[in-house]
Amino acid sequence: MINKGEITNSNKTLKDVSQLKEVLWINPKNMKYEEAAKTINLDTSLIDDAERRLNKFAPLIEILFPETQKSHGIIESPLRGIDNMKQELISSYDTQISGKLLLKMDSHLAIAGSVKARGGIYEVLKYAETLALKNNILKEDDDYSIMAEKRFKDFFGQHKVQVGSTGNLGLSIGITSATLGFNVMVHMSSDAKQWKKDLLRSKGAQVLEYDGDFSKAVEEGRKMSDQDPMSYFVDDENSMNLFLGYAVAARRLKKQLDDMNITVNKDNPLFVYLPCGVGGAPGGITYGLKSIYKDDVHCFFVEPTHAPAMLIGMVTGLHNDISVQDLGIDGKTHADGLAVGRPSKLVGKMMDYLLGGVFTIEDYKLYDNMRMLKTSENIDIEPSACAGFEGVIKIEKSEAEKDYINKHQLKGKMKNATHIVWATGGSLVPEEINKEFLNTYL
Ligand SMILES: *Cc1c(COP(=O)(O)O)cnc(C)c1O
Repeated sequence: MINKGEITNSNKTLKDVSQLKEVLWINPKNMKYEEAAKTINLDTSLIDDAERRLNKFAPLIEILFPETQKSHGIIESPLRGIDNMKQELISSYDTQISGKLLLKMDSHLAIAGSVKARGGIYEVLKYAETLALKNNILKEDDDYSIMAEKRFKDFFGQHKVQVGSTGNLGLSIGITSATLGFNVMVHMSSDAKQWKKDLLRSKGAQVLEYDGDFSKAVEEGRKMSDQDPMSYFVDDENSMNLFLGYAVAARRLKKQLDDMNITVNKDNPLFVYLPCGVGGAPGGITYGLKSIYKDDVHCFFVEPTHAPAMLIGMVTGLHNDISVQDLGIDGKTHADGLAVGRPSKLVGKMMDYLLGGVFTIEDYKLYDNMRMLKTSENIDIEPSACAGFEGVIKIEKSEAEKDYINKHQLKGKMKNATHIVWATGGSLVPEEINKEFLNTYL
């Protein structure tokens, strides 16, 4: 049993969190990468394996999703400087941002329009491959574009993919599975965005809605899938394949930074700010980045004040054994991509010694940041995706963060820093809904 009073009295951060205050928690367990890596039972060569698999699937992706023709079936997003936004943030929030500010635009990833295009699409492709190999209709050295043929669609049509989602994971899994020929069921809470349900149905996915919160949808989906031997359940909280799909982002990011002549080393630190829901996407990306840049990259998650699931899991060490509701927090946030009450079991423990810390952000700021990005850079992203800005706004402003900077001996190096705000979604948002967002003041 979780005793709320005992927990919140034990720790200032948890007390503030339970009172819905914005906090920034510096992870006291953060340690040198070489030490931290020993605590994680995962082979980084699995990321290479995932990257190779995505390359192998690229010719198929190119056929099934013509929007990826320009990149020859590789689904990747732009990384770009946002100097005007940097100036706007500095003056609006009266803060300091040293070094470069870049936006990683997963908001504009092909097919799913969000970071879920990384993990979700990888998971479905891997499952399709496993099925096809097992049934001897595909060989490892085949050209995978044959999977666009009708006989494969007919074969996948005998199988079902199911997922519980607040929205974007459903879009990613739903669109990819349906296009390959699978039957798809997406289990959503009834307050999930209507346009996402409509879009999924238009792609041929079946959408089931549940009253109550999203964990109910996941639970029901899992139950239904477990009863059906021809069904595969995509488990957002525990899937290693999702995690690996996200982790590939880091390899690709390194190449983009190299192409921009941006150096990352001891004297030129990299800071990355990632919006966090259940933890899979930011966790996978962090794990990937750490495996490349080790102690020269500093990763932070950002969560809504009403849904700080990963934060409370990590601070208490209880991980998925605690939910925000246990601390009297309602889990209701405008950031639907981050509206998660209980963190991933898989990810929290892996982040224990790698993560720099977690920020929380109030909902009204998501819209403010969204407007700022629109007016300063003419870029549209969704509210959840705006959470990352909180990190760069506060990294050099607050006392706690200065502790982080001191502890890691970064003081004189901040002028050489590169900050990346990870914009996790937005390009599928319908025009009129986007307009509504831009006119929302809380
Ligand atoms: C899902 C999502 C995230 C966070 O990913 P998790 O794996 O749930 O932590 C962030 N932003 C957006 C827009 C998302 O859809």
